[in-house]
Amino acid sequence: MAEETNNIPTLKMSKHVEGFCLMTYRCALGHTELLWNSRDGVTPFNIKCNYPDCDKNSQHIAWEKDLCIPLFEGRCFVDNTIENFKEQLIKNIETNKGIQERYPTEQEREELLLRLLEGFDEGQPTIKCLI
Ligand SMILES: [Zn+2]
Repeated sequence: MAEETNNIPTLKMSKHVEGFCLMTYRCALGHTELLWNSRDGVTPFNIKCNYPDCDKNSQHIAWEKDLCIPLFEGRCFVDNTIENFKEQLIKNIETNKGIQERYPTEQEREELLLRLLEGFDEGQPTIKCLI
């Protein structure tokens, strides 16, 4: 049990391959970012590129170079909360033109929000900046 004495995650302690891993994401324009998974959980293959004004998706690349580390200061995957998930959904519904066209009334958008909220799973990831 020596590896657990400092409560520092190790590869052996994580059930998921990407648990506590520092991972590289890159978009089609070559913008590259390191993101750390602060949890023993799955992470998305695609995320929105974080480079200013870039509208591309970034993909998890170079999986073989994922590095399991105990801490990281920067953008990280964390467990999402139902409150944060709801805020994200409301923001998406309010700013997405396609949704606005497909669900033109406030009541339709409210029903959409309730349906989407049912899709929340405990432990689903979101990105936060940990400093
Ligand atoms: Zn980009």
